[in-house]
Amino acid sequence: MRTLLWLQGGACGGNSLSLLNASDPDLLLFFEQHKIKLLWHPSLSLENNIEKILNDIRNGKITLDILVFEGTIIRGPNNTGTFNLFAGKPMKDWISEISPLANYIIAVGDCASFGGIPASDPNPTQSTGLQFHKKEKGGFLGQKFRSKSGFPVINISGCPAHPTWILTTISMIVEGKLTEDLLDEYNRPKIFYSTTTQFGCPRQPYFTYKIASNELGHREGCLYFELGCRGPMTRSPCNNILWNNQSSKTRVGTPCMGCTEFDFPTFNFFKTEKNRSGLPKNLPIGMSRGSYITFSAIARGSAPQFLTKPLIKKRGDWIE
Ligand code: SF4
Ligand code: SF4
Repeated sequence: MRTLLWLQGGACGGNSLSLLNASDPDLLLFFEQHKIKLLWHPSLSLENNIEKILNDIRNGKITLDILVFEGTIIRGPNNTGTFNLFAGKPMKDWISEISPLANYIIAVGDCASFGGIPASDPNPTQSTGLQFHKKEKGGFLGQKFRSKSGFPVINISGCPAHPTWILTTISMIVEGKLTEDLLDEYNRPKIFYSTTTQFGCPRQPYFTYKIASNELGHREGCLYFELGCRGPMTRSPCNNILWNNQSSKTRVGTPCMGCTEFDFPTFNFFKTEKNRSGLPKNLPIGMSRGSYITFSAIARGSAPQFLTKPLIKKRGDWIE
């Protein structure tokens, strides 16, 4: 039996809610199938014995196989951590004590991974991620930190992270299939973070031929040019591993906000930042401005008619 403890810092609880959406298998069946004993979870556990569990881990009476942390480490005010008291003392002190005892640590969500929304300027709670602060390695535990298994903190970023990303990562750990070379430069499992949100987006042809959508929720056009879609700059499988097993933001006409990246949130949602020549400031990952300009000019002039004269003019309006 493997033990798993889920703790929460500066967070909205969105990753716990996301976790509860797991299906095939659902969460309880997943734990049963993988022989995982849930020691405690802030929303799922009825027992009020967390202080004893934490002390038993600290004293070596309980072996902690997987520590999952959701939310930021709150260090404020003045590095005391007392903004986030938990089981009799600052949460950050518990994390300092039990982190070296855990075999694996998973930071779930953008807050635990990179600091997310709570760590945005002016960051009044002195929030930070477990092993990153935005792009910088280090975070609360420090750049050199390793859990007992020798792994750095495994980041499953997202606001929230998808239940499949969380449970697949846990199952890879339990089955001994996760090796460090399967993590990317931000310690995220590459299987989920090596392609961008654009992969699988049905609007991709519109992106290719530079046809913009100007209206949220519209069925045609790409959301990158006017509506601030960060799909080309964001590594996530949201258009392959669908939300609620059926859709994604860009599929329903809402731009990707880049919630799996270290710089989330960028706070310019729904509007594309442009330079003086009217081109988007943020380019697809790995694309130079020169090649973007050349490619755009050619693409725009060669857009096929089925994209420029779509079957649907506006919502509910079918053209014969
Ligand atoms: S809507 Fe967003 S994710 Fe989809 S093709 Fe356009 S830029 Fe890419
Ligand atoms: S589409 Fe973008 S903002 Fe939405 S969940 Fe995926 S990565 Fe996050």
